[in-house]
Amino acid sequence: MPGVLVVGSLNVDLTVAAPRIPAPGETVLGGELQVSPGGKGANQALAAARAGASVSLVGAVGQDAFAAQALHLLQAAGVNLEGVRAVPGATGVALITVASGGENAITVASGANAGLEAAHLPSDLRPYSHLLLQQELPPAVTLSAAQRARTAGLRVLLNAAPSRDTAPELLAATHHLIVNEHELSALAGGEGEVGVQARALLARGPEAVTVTLGARGSVTVTAGATHVLPAHPVAVTDTTGAGDTFCGVLAARLQSGDPLPHALHWAGVAAALACTRRGAQAAMPLWPEVEAAGA
Ligand code: ADP
Repeated sequence: MPGVLVVGSLNVDLTVAAPRIPAPGETVLGGELQVSPGGKGANQALAAARAGASVSLVGAVGQDAFAAQALHLLQAAGVNLEGVRAVPGATGVALITVASGGENAITVASGANAGLEAAHLPSDLRPYSHLLLQQELPPAVTLSAAQRARTAGLRVLLNAAPSRDTAPELLAATHHLIVNEHELSALAGGEGEVGVQARALLARGPEAVTVTLGARGSVTVTAGATHVLPAHPVAVTDTTGAGDTFCGVLAARLQSGDPLPHALHWAGVAAALACTRRGAQAAMPLWPEVEAAGA
């Protein structure tokens, strides 16, 4: 069966818990350094693979000690990494300070991700039925991937995160857009309730728009229907990676042939399970756990 292609970022997250986010010019002594694999592309590829999909990732790491860190959980999950280039220079790094109140401050050094070019995309898209994109790569690469995939008959899913200028052409090439409330406001102008704003985006290209609402679940609109999904109830430990789990599992379930409401259900269950454990990639559930929790 044709698989899921993810074209996206790979990073290593360097996280330190600290009493507070440092003010300009200030140095704050924090706790132990946590080194963990991240990047929205890698996270979503891993979530899809753990949910049982056949997944290939296209991206770039550097030629440094962080590259192996960025790749090891993807390798363990069987993600096809032939499309991940090892380029001279540094792997992408996110410097994350988490304050005791839970708020965080993140600085990203894009590193190898910034050097990815449209020429590095696979020329043969026949092995794939679904393309999953985010907004952490150079916009020209993301746009080229979406347009070529659409022309080749793939379904294109875009998680418009992090929030940045989304080209009208990219929205036009997208079948299914996934955003959180903040990204929705940035795209739709922030006027009106969530369903109304999401519906307004349908006119710009996507056939479906999903808005994830954190502990309130998700809302998905299509031309003919509105699907409101409450969150799957869990004891929350850490919501890092919930959005990435949702997107990866949604793509995996759509690729497996699930109708949209079922795929949304499983994405919500998996994202909730990811909230019960610390970390992003490490917290992502395997399919049997998702199936047992959401049956
Ligand atoms: P992001 O992390 O991208 O901002 P959200 O916070 O909206 O994304 O979370 C994505 C999805 O994860 C939600 O739609 C929901 O299904 C699930 N989720 C997030 N927080 C919780 C929670 N507290 N309880 C259960 N599920 C949650």
